[in-house]
Order: sequence, then C-alpha cells, then structure tokens
Amino acid sequence: MDKKTNHIFGPVPSRRLGYSLGLDIIPMKSCTQNCVYCQLGLDAPTTETLSDFVDIDEVVAELKNKLKSCDRIDYITLSGSGEPTLHSKLGELIEKIKSICDIPVAVITNGSLLWNKKVAAALSKADVILPSLDAGDEETFKDINRPNSNISFDKFVQGMIDFSASYNGKIWLEIFLIKNRNTSDEQIEKMISIIDKINPDKIQLNTAVRPTVEEGVEMVSSSELERIAKKIARGAEVIADFSKKNLTSSNADIETNILEMVKRHPCSADDIVATLGIEKAEVESITERLCANGKLVGKKRSNATFFSIPVDNLK
Ligand code: SF4
Repeated sequence: MDKKTNHIFGPVPSRRLGYSLGLDIIPMKSCTQNCVYCQLGLDAPTTETLSDFVDIDEVVAELKNKLKSCDRIDYITLSGSGEPTLHSKLGELIEKIKSICDIPVAVITNGSLLWNKKVAAALSKADVILPSLDAGDEETFKDINRPNSNISFDKFVQGMIDFSASYNGKIWLEIFLIKNRNTSDEQIEKMISIIDKINPDKIQLNTAVRPTVEEGVEMVSSSELERIAKKIARGAEVIADFSKKNLTSSNADIETNILEMVKRHPCSADDIVATLGIEKAEVESITERLCANGKLVGKKRSNATFFSIPVDNLK
C-alpha cells in the first residue's frame, strides 16, 4: 500500500504520464487563473506572486523515503492544488530531485507565467512540461481561463513561444475544449497559428467529461473532438477519458462512488484518486465532508488514512 505523506501522492496511473508520482507543492487553491472548468473551487483570488509555499527540503526528504517503496514510477510530476510555477523555489526543487534519482521530472502548468524569467529558468530544468492553451484570443482567454489582471493573452502566448525556442525538454500542450466557448473554426484556426509558433512535441485535446463546479461548462462529444483533432492535425490526439463520463455524473454521484468503494474495503485518498480519476484535492474535500457528516470514518495506519463506513451505518 502506498505510504501517504503531506506532499506526495501516488504513484497513480495517468493517461498522459504512465505511473506518475505526484508532488503537491502548492496549497489549495493558489493559482494565476480561475478557469471555468477548475475542480478546485471558484472562490480563491488569483495571484502572480511567487512564494515559498512549502519547504522543498521536506518534500525531497518525503520523496527519498517514498522512492524506497515504489516499484514503478514513470514520471515525478510537480503539480498541486493550484499552479506549481508559483513556487519560488521550483528550480531548486527540480535540481534536488535530479540529484537523488534518474526518474524524469514533469511539470503540469497552465503556462501563464512562462514570460517570467525566474519561472522559465526553473522550468528549463524539467524533462517535460505540460502547459495549456484553451483560447485563440484575449476575449476567449478571459472567458475560459479568467487570468490574473496582470497577465494579458499576448504576454501569456509570447511567454510560451519564447520559452519553447530555448527549451531542450518536451512540451506536451493540452487544449481543453468547451462546447460553444472555444470550438468554433475561428478559435481553432487562431489556436493553430499560435501552436505553430510554439511547436509542441504533442498536442492533447481534453474536455469536461466529468461535471465541473461551475454550471454551463459543456462537454464536447467524442466525434467533435476527433473532428477538431483532424483539423488541427500536427499529430493532435484526443486524451479525454470518456469512460469517466458515466462514473461521476454529479458531485452527489462522486460521493456515492466513494461510499461504494469503501464499503468493500477501506481505501486511502490515493486509492480513490487512482480508481475514480479525481484530483487529490477534490477527494480530500469530499472525504472531509463525508467524515464531518458521519458517513465516513478515517483511521490512520502506516502514515496513511484509510476511509471506511462507520460500523453503525452498516447495520
Ligand atoms: S489553472 Fe488549473 S488550478 Fe488554476 S484555475 Fe485553471 S484548472 Fe484550476
């Protein structure tokens, strides 16, 4: 069983990164954006100020310990309950990870701070970065990603283009498509002209297969995604996992799925993340609520908390 720590989760099987060991280095929810499709809630103010959120030596010590008990890790993935490039010591952290193992380091980022020289220098140490591009112009960028007021679309895009020109690692660009918001031919064509300047190694199309916190974020059908992938060409692939669509059709259903899972045997948050494909932060928020309501009980064992149904509720 995986050993749960404060900053590490997994390894979890991931569609894009194989067995990915996640390092959560950002507190809930510190981000440069407030995307309409965000699963981490919508109330937090945006920021572009870098900060020393968590002690990187603590993270590295936890990682060292974790590596002793893992058979397979394809990537060590820096992410978080927000935007990982907001961590002011990201570059130092990547260097330290590389000094203790040979596993490639990936960073999942919204890409909105690549114009910042310090962030670009930090990311240049990673083996692969997975940035996002969900818009072809300022208006759509503001509609979907709702960035901090100091980040214009031109600044965001130019940052990504300049970074890619000197980066030696891989860039896997994710495009999150929302029905009637960024799927018009005009938007796709605008995005294609930006993509050609970034020249990413992969282009991966995603959509809202699971319900979002915000209403009105409509999923794009599988056939429409395939049509858009063909239009983009350049090796674009669909990564949306439609098998998750019926698994969790509402927040209430996610709760039901968790309760069903733990009824069979106690599960840790990492088990739930791996099975339901839900963000760790979301699992933590739901399990906390279920525990407060008396529907779940958490018991610590070997540094992980295992959730189960209270015995009285099973009678
Ligand atoms: S970039 Fe990610 S964490 Fe930030 S608001 Fe968008 S979806 Fe949420």
